[in-house]
Amino acid sequence: MKLLIPLFFTFFSLFAYDVHNGKMLLLPLSSAQGIIMMHDRNTTVVPHPLNPNRGFALLPIDYYTPPQKTEMQWLTQDGNLTLDLEILKASYPTEILSVDSAKVTPPPEALERIALEKAEAEKIYATYNTVRYWDKPFIRPIESITTSEYGSARTYNSVLKSYHGGVDFRAQTPLPILASNDGVIVLAKDRYYSGGTVIIDHGEGIYTCYFHLSQFDVSVGHKVTRGQSIGLSGATGRITGPHLHFGIMVHGIQSDPINFLAQIETLFSEPVAIVQNSQ
Ligand SMILES: [Zn+2]
Repeated sequence: MKLLIPLFFTFFSLFAYDVHNGKMLLLPLSSAQGIIMMHDRNTTVVPHPLNPNRGFALLPIDYYTPPQKTEMQWLTQDGNLTLDLEILKASYPTEILSVDSAKVTPPPEALERIALEKAEAEKIYATYNTVRYWDKPFIRPIESITTSEYGSARTYNSVLKSYHGGVDFRAQTPLPILASNDGVIVLAKDRYYSGGTVIIDHGEGIYTCYFHLSQFDVSVGHKVTRGQSIGLSGATGRITGPHLHFGIMVHGIQSDPINFLAQIETLFSEPVAIVQNSQ
């Protein structure tokens, strides 16, 4: 029994992780069993896309999570394992924006519509579809430069303060918007703030969102494949000019899309240290 103690501590130091607020930790695991528990939140371990005997868990950290040292527990039938996690503070830029004042202080007649659209989106993001539609990395929805990163602290018309929940791509003229990966369209409509909006369900709690479109090529229920055009970029909703806003929701948390793309890419490229749960 005494012999086990040094091994135990070695093991702990091998598997310590850190992640910034607003980013996602992709945790590679030796099997596709069990759940990861962190902050009372349970995340299902899912099979690796290239080797279903292995697993991984997607652990997005909410933008407003304060820096802290915490733990994750991997709970399986074979036993439990504790992993150290440090949540670090990301340094996001600040932006001051001027938009139509009705999009900052909405007129009373718009309030019901706004509330309904919010509830509709929250219901979608809270839905965990156990089917995985994709088997390749996610791609950028447009070939263009980014004009605003995820996480910028924003002030609208000196009044409203929030943060930027996605990444903006320049699109001065209407450009085709491509599905980031295979999935099913779960929303395609005009909304008050996000204008022409498409949401794709990729399964296992992953949704991609495309805002401010001027035209739809898809409607709810359509299956789409990676790279397929879902519509044209535009300048609808709360905007300062024409662009595409691209967002990612993972397990109901708005995560940095560019970081998400890079994390998922590691499943298909880099060999990474895998947490073993066999004693
Ligand atoms: Zn945006």
